[in-house]
Parts: sequence; structure tokens; C-alpha cells
Amino acid sequence: MAKNKKPSVGRRRFLKGAVAGAAGLMTKPKKGSAQQHEDHDHDHQVVPSDPALRTKALETLLVQKGLVDPVTLDLLVDAYQTKIGPQNGAKVIARAWIDPAYKKRLLENAPKTIAELGYTTGEADDMNVVENGPKVHNLVVCTLCSCYPWTLLGLPPRWYKSDAYRSRAVIDPRGILSEFGLTLPDEVEIRVWDSTAELRYLVLPERPAGTERMSERELAALVTRDSMVGVANVTLPKSGGRQ
Ligand code: FE
Repeated sequence: MAKNKKPSVGRRRFLKGAVAGAAGLMTKPKKGSAQQHEDHDHDHQVVPSDPALRTKALETLLVQKGLVDPVTLDLLVDAYQTKIGPQNGAKVIARAWIDPAYKKRLLENAPKTIAELGYTTGEADDMNVVENGPKVHNLVVCTLCSCYPWTLLGLPPRWYKSDAYRSRAVIDPRGILSEFGLTLPDEVEIRVWDSTAELRYLVLPERPAGTERMSERELAALVTRDSMVGVANVTLPKSGGRQ
């Protein structure tokens, strides 16, 4: 093994260099462009966080070694930014609100019924949709890790993956809901659903009063990610719904 006489380079400095190298490979500044100016006495950009730097460095290596196709990566990023997210789940919920037959099918066979709108259950084989009502509120968790209906909700939020949420959702669901700003009356039963790799859950929130004349699209715009996990209810914007 060759001796390394160079001073050791800090991990962060190394990653910053790797990213700068990657950026250089990806984009060559045009003559006269703003990027070509080198007479500045300041950095052009703030160095990203460590995880972001690690990700970019890893991506650069994988692309350089030909292990991943940058076009495929772009497609994946685009999918998560524009195609996969809570807007998908919201469309399922809005359809269930306006179409009783769809809702009945959804509660009986969620995978088949969400497929009617072009969505899948991802790598999980099965999915259950659980309906909120005046006497029942459903809450979804994955106590083991972070199983999540990502094809309908996108990537899970950080709190969903936290130890605190995963343990307390089971031990003290009413308490954790109040910390999310949702205080439920004592007479409302809270049902906690523990997701697994094979079975995911999606909450069908209650349709808010005052939305009777809203279109399916308008209804979908009201449905939030948190309401489909069960840590929130669907509410009308403060300006009120269209009557
Ligand atoms: Fe999990």
C-alpha cells in the first residue's frame, strides 16, 4: 500500500471538492457568462448540508463508474418532485367523497380501487383504507421502521420515521395527536394501524361540512398528507369554502 504523505483532508472538505468536481463535469460555463467571473471575493453558494454533499458525491461516483444512468436519475427525481406525492392520495380521497360506489369499493379492496385512478400500492402487496367518522379516528404508524403508502403520499416526513412518533403513536395516540394540534373528544375512539412491508394504510378523512358544492378537483386540493396519515383532519381554508 502506497504511503500517503499528503495531509489528511477532512470529510466535509473532501465532499465539497467532490461536489465541485461533479458540478464542473456537469456544466461548463459559457464564455462571458456570469459563472465564468472569477474576480469575486465571496463564495457563489452556501455549501449544502453534509447529507446533501454525501448524496451528491455518491451520485457522481455512481454515474462516473457507469453504474447508474443520469437520465434515469433525472426521471426518478422528476417523478418524486412532480408526479408522486400526496396529490395522488388526495385524488383518491376526493373521488371517494363524491362517489359512494367508489368509496365502497375502496374500503373493500383498496389496491384494486386505487388502480382505477392509475395508482399502485408500490412494493407492498396490500393496502387498507380506513375511514374516519364522528366516533372513530384512525392513525397510521410503522412501529418497526417507516413503511408508508409512498405511491399515494410521496416520501414520508421526518417525524413519521422518528422513534418518538413510532413509539408514542401506540402508547399515547391521543397525546401525540394533540401535539399535532388535533384534540379529539374523549368519546372518539382512536384506532392505531401499524404498517408493515406487506400492508400499508391510508386514512380516509371526514369530508368537511360546507364542501357540498365543491368540485372533485377543489375537494382534492383540501386533502393534506397529514390528514391521510391521521395526524390531522381536513379543514376548510380560513376564507371558507365555496357555497
Ligand atoms: Fe416500516
